[in-house]
Amino acid sequence: MDQKELIINKIAQDKIDFHLGLHLLLDDNYNFEQLFSTLHNYIFNSIPEKSDYNSETYQKAINSIPLRQTFTSIEILKRFSPKIAFYKLASLPENENKKTITCLLWIFKITDTERRNTECKNGCGHFWHELE
Ligand SMILES: [Zn+2]
Repeated sequence: MDQKELIINKIAQDKIDFHLGLHLLLDDNYNFEQLFSTLHNYIFNSIPEKSDYNSETYQKAINSIPLRQTFTSIEILKRFSPKIAFYKLASLPENENKKTITCLLWIFKITDTERRNTECKNGCGHFWHELE
């Protein structure tokens, strides 16, 4: 797990404050493609519905993203199924990138928390769920 992945998991597990963690991830030389791809994988892995990756928790996460609900990234997440939404998010203009990362980080925090409270509750082999 690299430094950014560690930060993402600590944010998801409430070991780093969301906004502080976001600030650490979006530093001056952050790599959008890399962060996007990591969060994309993390989110899809954390959702039990593998056919379409849609779930009540996923929808709840979108509706509680701490940004204005009219931002393009959120509109896309609301309007399209997860696979199509992620495809569209990846190709938005650069000035949307930080908002997109904020959305995905928030969604992962919610879907991973749900997973830790259900599937992972009685122990799991996920080494990233064993952080100090
Ligand atoms: Zn786990």
